[in-house]
Amino acid sequence: MTGEPRGVAILGSTGSIGTTALRVLQRHSDRFRVRALTAFRNAALLREQAELFKPTFVGVVCNGVDPQSEWACGADCLVTAAQRGDVDIVINAVVGAAGLDATLAAVHAGKRVALANKETLVMAGSLVSEACRRGGGEIVPVDSEHSAILQCIGGRNPGDVRRLIITASGGPFRAWPGERVARATVADALQHPTWRMGRKITIDSATLANKALEVIEAHFLFGLSYDQIEVVVHPQSVVHSFVEFVDGSVLAQVGVPSMELPVLYALTHPERLTDTGVPPFDPVEVSPLTFERVRTADFPALKLGLAAGRLGGAAPAVFNAANEQAVALFLEGRIAFGDVPRGIASALDALGDTPGDTRDALVAADVAARAHVREMFQC
Ligand code: MG
Repeated sequence: MTGEPRGVAILGSTGSIGTTALRVLQRHSDRFRVRALTAFRNAALLREQAELFKPTFVGVVCNGVDPQSEWACGADCLVTAAQRGDVDIVINAVVGAAGLDATLAAVHAGKRVALANKETLVMAGSLVSEACRRGGGEIVPVDSEHSAILQCIGGRNPGDVRRLIITASGGPFRAWPGERVARATVADALQHPTWRMGRKITIDSATLANKALEVIEAHFLFGLSYDQIEVVVHPQSVVHSFVEFVDGSVLAQVGVPSMELPVLYALTHPERLTDTGVPPFDPVEVSPLTFERVRTADFPALKLGLAAGRLGGAAPAVFNAANEQAVALFLEGRIAFGDVPRGIASALDALGDTPGDTRDALVAADVAARAHVREMFQC
């Protein structure tokens, strides 16, 4: 990679992926310039970041935070940042369906989206693909499993891929009996064994809803059918995923759990940079590596998500929205851990066959699914 530094926007710069991305960009400041930063509501950290990186645009989503006068305010700031002329790459690290319009706007404007906001691909995969075709933009995954798959597939004939095997840490309840899982507390669920992440994705990892989101994400990113995508539990999170080819050969991408590498790779793909701060890989240090079947009966959110993916239409959007709402209620202490998959199942029963061929239809299904879950639990 040579020439002028590439302009980067980070949507969600104060979260876990956002702060990791800024560390990566700081290390490679000769190649990249931070042009735009947006945050949900952490104005104090956003101000620190803005002073350090001096972007040309700063936005904050939540009104009433008392932002500095030159900041853009409200949800529109995500789309504004994503479309800016001085931005080449948009790192979308927004949590949940709220990131959809910015992803669509960025790819429509011909930009690369380094996508950590998997929910928007789940919610509207076909629309995002269509916007890429029309606008000339592209989606490069930040999710470690999808980065692994991209690195294994890179440059090969797509017809040679037979199967993806996505690894899952199994979360904090991997070895818990099923009836105890349903009664887990918020503190239990926030104790992820291998990854330090934001609260929403940490709960999704505990329910395995995250893996359902990732299978749907892989379906849209790599154009494979749901029959070609499997999940295996791998507690050490060292093998980030496998790709099996038609001749039976299997490739994997391997490394100690750190989001810095997938973030950097999403910026540079298909090229690689040196000086990444990643320590040398030592297979003895990470051994033994083990693999287990998923306990689907004890983690029903996975099966529900896969069924929603196969159903298509607005079903993945309903799955995603019901999950987001149920996780928010669980984090507020208003429903039990076992209520999260119950809420998703009920929303899919009621709304799963809603059509979803436009952005507005998908947003309506999203709103209806959230309302359904709140009503079900009288919250
Ligand atoms: Mg992941």
